Amino acid sequence: MTEDPQCPCCTSVTETALHATVLCPSSHDLWLRSGCQAALPLVSSNSFGEVILNWAEHLTPELYQRSLFLSWFIWFRCNRWIFENAWDPDEAILHRHSKLVVDFDEYTRKIYGSSASPTAPSSRKIWEPPPPGIIKVNVDARVSNDGWIGLGTVARDCTSSVLFSAVCRHKARWDPLTAESKAAWYGLHKAVEYGFNNIILEVGSLVLVNKLKKKSFTLAAVDNVLEDIVFASASLSSIVWSHVKQDGNFVAHHLARLVPYNHEQVWENSVPNEVSSYVLLDFLSMN
Ligand SMILES: [Zn+2]
Repeated sequence: MTEDPQCPCCTSVTETALHATVLCPSSHDLWLRSGCQAALPLVSSNSFGEVILNWAEHLTPELYQRSLFLSWFIWFRCNRWIFENAWDPDEAILHRHSKLVVDFDEYTRKIYGSSASPTAPSSRKIWEPPPPGIIKVNVDARVSNDGWIGLGTVARDCTSSVLFSAVCRHKARWDPLTAESKAAWYGLHKAVEYGFNNIILEVGSLVLVNKLKKKSFTLAAVDNVLEDIVFASASLSSIVWSHVKQDGNFVAHHLARLVPYNHEQVWENSVPNEVSSYVLLDFLSMN
């Protein structure tokens, strides 16, 4: 995490991923209060990876999921402490944790038909990482009643690592398809700005993907945007248009609902707090 071998949260022991997430005294109460204490006696290795395998084997699927979420929240808190010097109190973590557990339960029920088997999906409507060397850019738009339109985009690589996330807002009268197209243009524009050359652009609208694949446009407003997109994508080495159902587009979906500080807000190599749980959901459902 940092070059300092000390744990930044308790400033005593040598820092490891396992210490930061499970063993650090600063987080011990969280393990007890979140209903995850049964995970603690199963920590019999120094490797976080082995501990996770051990949990998968010995905990119920529900408790396993809970424990992973908690580890991740604690890890996130530790990082926030290091990089932003902000310490989230236990109560905030517990609240987010219980909320995520409920969300995830709904999410898995919707996708897998039951909350118990997130590891064996039959048909995937979920986010999948791109092949190595390719960047996947997910985009979405939100048209709200007050005349504001939010555009959200997130770029991830083959390891599910976030390269950037961004949101912007426009006061405009766009129909949903035009708004989606603007979101696609926005995501593409950001990806080009970051110098990514091989892109999968993933949107929630099948109509949009079909239009882009056909490349036959009329004078309609939406087609203007699509022409811009095709023009902008000509400079890339490769671009693939991809459609994903809403469950696979959760991160972009929730980004589009955020209100940026100014016209636009960009997070490099990260996502805002509000959507970080959805990044985790994608990551977990991929395994
Ligand atoms: Zn510590």
